[in-house]
Amino acid sequence: YHAKQKDSGICPFDISMTHELKRRQQMTERLSDALQHHRLTLHFQPQIDLRNGQLVGAEALCRWYEEEWGWVSPGEFIPLAEERGLIRALGDWVLTAAARQLMEWQRAGTPLPGRLSVNVSAQQFTDPQLASHIASLAEGVPASAIALELTESDFMRDPEQAVAITQALRNAGYALAIDDFGTGYSSLSYLRRFAADALKIDISFVHEMLDSHHARTIVETIIAMAQALGMQTVAEGVECREQAVALAEMGCDHAQGYHFDRPLPADAFTAAWGHAMRPRAR
Ligand code: C2E
Ligand code: MG
Ligand code: MG
Ligand code: MG
Repeated sequence: YHAKQKDSGICPFDISMTHELKRRQQMTERLSDALQHHRLTLHFQPQIDLRNGQLVGAEALCRWYEEEWGWVSPGEFIPLAEERGLIRALGDWVLTAAARQLMEWQRAGTPLPGRLSVNVSAQQFTDPQLASHIASLAEGVPASAIALELTESDFMRDPEQAVAITQALRNAGYALAIDDFGTGYSSLSYLRRFAADALKIDISFVHEMLDSHHARTIVETIIAMAQALGMQTVAEGVECREQAVALAEMGCDHAQGYHFDRPLPADAFTAAWGHAMRPRAR
């Protein structure tokens, strides 16, 4: 066995590498195809005001159902899209689809309260014309209906550029949230200059908060810092009532998570939350 391997010059490590590369190549091709033929979808997760339980917005999350593989996690295909040059096209599709859904809810008499949050990745955030680019993709939807989420680590890749683009977006009326906050390495001075509207407390702290004094202190500190800087806080991944209650006590503004609802297809979202989306009901 070993002799044979030596002859071929391939060790098991190389074999699995080759296999992995092939799989990623195949996944890239299928993702590109799905994108071209509009076979991606968006799911929507409600965002809740922790003080009164009201619906205050939603986050759009990209979904890909592949015929052979089933649901592929965005945790897998988003990084792949970033690596293989597909993320701009994917990001454009997401923004267009998000805007279309906002218009559809509006048309149906169940407008989404607050804003729809759309995730953007670092490569989209290098475009100095991002604000007008988004406006052209989301034609017919006011900037006040959209928030953009960028992860903390993406902000910090080129902070000066991020500061400039952030300001242009805010001037155009878009809100900005720093996603997965607490996992990156923001300098406090940049945090002030990003002029983001909200910090999204990373899921990991929310999950550990009730068991770990350390995690709870981090959550309290993020909330205090956001308040001092005039930003809102959104807790991610709230899975039980105890977490929601503790976050409300700490002064966290908004939350999302399975405790309230999972990310849902648009029709299921309207069925579950439509009562909170009628203008008269508010
Ligand atoms: P994210 O933006 O931080 O999104 C939050 C993730 O937490 C989502 O995972 C959501 O489904 C999940 N989640 C929500 N509530 C709970 C909960 O109570 N418990 C747990 N354990 N998880 C919860 P998802 O949809 O798999 O997305 C993963 C990441 O992929 C997102 O993290 C975001 O960074 C990225 N992503 C998703 N859609 C897009 C997109 O359209 N564009 C870009 N650039 N990135 C996207
Ligand atoms: Mg997000
Ligand atoms: Mg997050
Ligand atoms: Mg994330």
